[in-house]
Amino acid sequence: MNIVKTVRELRAAVAHARSEDKRIGFVPTMGNLHDGHAALVEKASQRVDFVVASIFVNPLQFGPKEDLASYPRTLEADKERLLQAGCNLLFAPSVEEMYPHGLAGQTLVSVSGVSEGLCGASRPGHFDGVATVVCKLFNMVQPDLAIFGQKDFQQLAVIRTLVSDLNMPIQIIGEPTVRATDGLALSSRNGYLDAVQRSAAPAIYRTLSDMVNAIQAGAADYSKLITAGLAALQAAGFRPDYLEIRQADTLKAATAEDQQLVILVAAFVGSTRLIDNIAFTRTLSA
Ligand code: AMP
Repeated sequence: MNIVKTVRELRAAVAHARSEDKRIGFVPTMGNLHDGHAALVEKASQRVDFVVASIFVNPLQFGPKEDLASYPRTLEADKERLLQAGCNLLFAPSVEEMYPHGLAGQTLVSVSGVSEGLCGASRPGHFDGVATVVCKLFNMVQPDLAIFGQKDFQQLAVIRTLVSDLNMPIQIIGEPTVRATDGLALSSRNGYLDAVQRSAAPAIYRTLSDMVNAIQAGAADYSKLITAGLAALQAAGFRPDYLEIRQADTLKAATAEDQQLVILVAAFVGSTRLIDNIAFTRTLSA
């Protein structure tokens, strides 16, 4: 696996792969890699000839009171994981390499619609930061396809919209969320949890699963379901940020007629904010 830190080296390595007629796949990450990230890289290596991963903790997508400074940085362990998963090229730039003119004057890419509400409401500017860095990375790598996790469901919707609205010739693939055996979605932020918080954390997925089961059993009063779900989260020691039932494709509020649904949650345990979701097809009762 080749490791590069500059855009110039990245472009040269990708150009070399292209000269050998290789199809390029791309997996952007913020590092501190776990099995969820590895699954994306493995998927990419099955689908293309040359897999590029990036590790960059993007300051543009963190709010002033968020965890930019404490976000785990574990480059040596990450390199080993990427190698095992089939990555060919790792791009690990500095902040100066990505934003040579600083953050303040940076041109921003703003995706409307799907970036509003949910995490977009709780984290102002977050999706502008995500869309901007992904747009830059796409222009640097120019991959044929890029793979993202469904764990960040709204982010995936933002990227799909970005690529469609700006006519980028890149296929976007969403991969299922990888979970711990107790259901907790793997996340770099799980490392912030102490033992008590970690043992409470599966309540997030349990609450989502209970809501899906209730809907499949015929429950149609979504506001009542949400009230019950919020109470379950609170009882488990969480401070819910949001819990919503939306249309899976548009992220608009779900109506009783919609079949493609997603239930999305963000909740704090202590100062750690965790997100999760389940997308599913509602089986209409006869
Ligand atoms: P991050 O490093 O958190 O920015 O995530 C990089 C990519 O990995 C994003 O596309 C995430 O959606 C994806 N990802 C993070 N956690 C998981 C997980 N548990 N399962 C699948 N994909 C994930």
